[in-house]
Amino acid sequence: MSFLVKNYNRRKISFKYGKGSFLYSVNGKKYLDFVQGIAVNSLGHSNPYLVKAINKQSKKLWHVSNAFIISEAEKLAKRLTQKTFADYVLFQNSGAEATEAAIKIARRYFYSIGQEKKNRILCIKNSFHGRTLATIFASGSRKMTEGFGPKVDGFDHFEFGDHKGLKKAINSKTAAIMIETVLGEGGIKVIPDWCLKELRKICNKKKILLILDEVQCGIGRSGKFFAFENSKIKPDIVPIAKGIGGGFPIGAVLMTKKVASGMVPGSHGSTFGGNPLAMSVGNAVLDQIFKKNFLKNIKKISLYFHNELNKIKNDYPNIIKDVRGVGLLIGLQLFHDQTKFIKNLENNQLLTIRAAENVIRVLPPLTVKKKEIDLAIKIIRKVCKEYKK
Ligand SMILES: *Cc1c(COP(=O)(O)O)cnc(C)c1O
Repeated sequence: MSFLVKNYNRRKISFKYGKGSFLYSVNGKKYLDFVQGIAVNSLGHSNPYLVKAINKQSKKLWHVSNAFIISEAEKLAKRLTQKTFADYVLFQNSGAEATEAAIKIARRYFYSIGQEKKNRILCIKNSFHGRTLATIFASGSRKMTEGFGPKVDGFDHFEFGDHKGLKKAINSKTAAIMIETVLGEGGIKVIPDWCLKELRKICNKKKILLILDEVQCGIGRSGKFFAFENSKIKPDIVPIAKGIGGGFPIGAVLMTKKVASGMVPGSHGSTFGGNPLAMSVGNAVLDQIFKKNFLKNIKKISLYFHNELNKIKNDYPNIIKDVRGVGLLIGLQLFHDQTKFIKNLENNQLLTIRAAENVIRVLPPLTVKKKEIDLAIKIIRKVCKEYKK
């Protein structure tokens, strides 16, 4: 008997501990974990450097309040701005809070320049920005909003890839376009660089803001610090979360000076956001990700992984429809429902997780080793070989 609310379809498997790319179940089985808490444990399980950082900070100070100066937060914000487009950072505790704060910041900016009627956010239909009331209506997904009315107004939608629809949906009330640089839950769909460039142009022309949700694809997962970096564009607002805490709940919004000017004392707040314990872990994660060659290695090893997966796709063209994604944010799209395939992988001690459009998400830690990728390839190949619909 479980006393947890049944809002999850949980797998009947539970873990005692984890180490790097592996999880060890209470039944004594060893699993190659290519879920990693859904792209959260960016440095793998119980990473010694993170363990040390959290232990050290836990003996000093966990939590004060944003009523005081928090040096660990100052440090993390400074490092994030030095390495990115951003001038300012706001800390939260989760992805949904970060995207919701991004929406507030966009609206508040137009309010602050006397254009409060510009307050609508344009999003991709069936995208994912979290589970708060505002962010479920931002996603425009029927499944996520069902039963949670009344509708939170202020969001308009266009279909993924429908460029005409996007242009048509922009009107005088549009404040911002908010999209995931790579749609995660939506099926690992990458927005191509030329599209991002075009989006930036449209936003400049219409004087609206570009919000890129990098909660899942950011913090090194793509092989760049941010997934949009290859396109060379600069967004106005970027919510992040998953990977930045390495397993500790951290959310943040990065933004330009212009946009940040709308936020004044009292305009937003969070009790927990940016506390010393969380920020120390965030700083430790950056110590690793900013190391020389760390991102380069992700590029190299992920290229190898994609190539090997494409070989499997070529050998099993009736099972695997597409290998998509970027860096270590990988989607295997099947021709049929992926449930059984994921279960078969699990039976062979490889953990993966679903996304929309029959996609299996493959999310190794950013510290994954080549021999672990080889093990995953071997298991995926075996499951393909034995696979019956
Ligand atoms: C996971 C995710 C969120 C929500 O993050 P939570 O921490 O679950 O609230 C928002 N946007 C994207 C793109 C995500 O992948």
